[in-house]
Amino acid sequence: MKTVDQCDFKDKKALIRVDFNVPLDKDFNITDDKRMRAALPTITKILNDGGSVILMSHLGRPKGGPEDKYSLKHILGDLSRMLDLEVKFADDCIGANAAEKAKNLEPGQVLLLENLRFYKEEEKGDKDFAEKLAKLGDVYVNDAFGTAHRAHASTSIIAEFFPTEKYFGYLMAEELKNAEKINRNADKPFTAIMGGAKVSDKILLIESLLDKVDNLIIGGGMAYTFAKAQGGEIGTSLLEADRMELCLELLEKAKAKGVNILLPVDTVIADKFDNDAQKKNVDSGEIPADWMGLDIGPKSVELFADVIKKSKTLLWNGPMGVFEMANFEQGTRAIAEAVVVATKENGAFSLIGGGDSAAAIAKFGLEDEVSYVSTGGGALLEYMEGKELPGVKAIND
Ligand code: AMP
Repeated sequence: MKTVDQCDFKDKKALIRVDFNVPLDKDFNITDDKRMRAALPTITKILNDGGSVILMSHLGRPKGGPEDKYSLKHILGDLSRMLDLEVKFADDCIGANAAEKAKNLEPGQVLLLENLRFYKEEEKGDKDFAEKLAKLGDVYVNDAFGTAHRAHASTSIIAEFFPTEKYFGYLMAEELKNAEKINRNADKPFTAIMGGAKVSDKILLIESLLDKVDNLIIGGGMAYTFAKAQGGEIGTSLLEADRMELCLELLEKAKAKGVNILLPVDTVIADKFDNDAQKKNVDSGEIPADWMGLDIGPKSVELFADVIKKSKTLLWNGPMGVFEMANFEQGTRAIAEAVVVATKENGAFSLIGGGDSAAAIAKFGLEDEVSYVSTGGGALLEYMEGKELPGVKAIND
């Protein structure tokens, strides 16, 4: 793998695609800076070599033109503090101003470009736009795992303009190493824990996991579609009616492949989608009309935790319930705790998929107690499904 370790950046201008798509509150304070902190080792290595750094990223989902709320200027102060230097800012990612600022950049200095997605050409993977970006630097580095599954101008197309001078940053290398470990060298028993809202988002992953795992635990909102497909009553719980058939097929396939599938045996139900709703525990498939399942129940926790604690490899993607509400976080918390026990006491390798599972593990303060928390949600899922990520391919080609 071609990483930044293979390059001496002295007097070079490194154009780094980072994923600084961090959540901001209404006053533009960063509420979780993990993705920024994760990019610091690559930036520091290049500066220590005597190079300079030009950072490019997207933030949020602008509609294809400049929007103040999505300006990367909001993170400039925090970035400067993290790097302990004054980061310069170009209020457009291409054009005369960006070119001038990039040209005048001296070794040891850092320039942050304005949001790439202020140009619709970015997501379209436009070649001319990629070329304009490419002209700003001498070397291209991709350290944005969170967007590696997109064939965008800055994540993949741009690499064409750096036939030899292109490298993976440390974060990318670390993410790929950990994902690879699960994909190819998983110690057994291997247990995957799937949760979250929708079956449809995770079907491909579940199918590809059936060839690898010993146990597949299914919780969260998606479990109710399975329960309904098996003839249960699920009240007003999340349901993807058009996926019920598929759920039954997945169960059949799992059986044929000898995979132990665990579905919740009980559930915490609420009379409305609200933290202050009335709640009670019932067995799965016995939810009264007008009630909805918002978490797995205590018997399911016990069943799942027992399997998790005996596992040697764990992949977790998606919460067990609506963990954002304190009254419905218990199932997700208990599963997180079981993953920690497996990691610490059974020497398991535990990989937590990005997105909501990462948010959950951070909420419970357990980020440092598992083997690795990925910064990529969609990217990790696609990698695990066996797809070649465009951002990875572009550097490897
Ligand atoms: P995903 O992005 O598919 O991983 O889904 C994560 C979201 O699923 C979180 O915001 C959870 O609150 C939500 N979720 C998990 N379980 C349930 C449930 N039983 N009912 C409704 N939403 C749920």
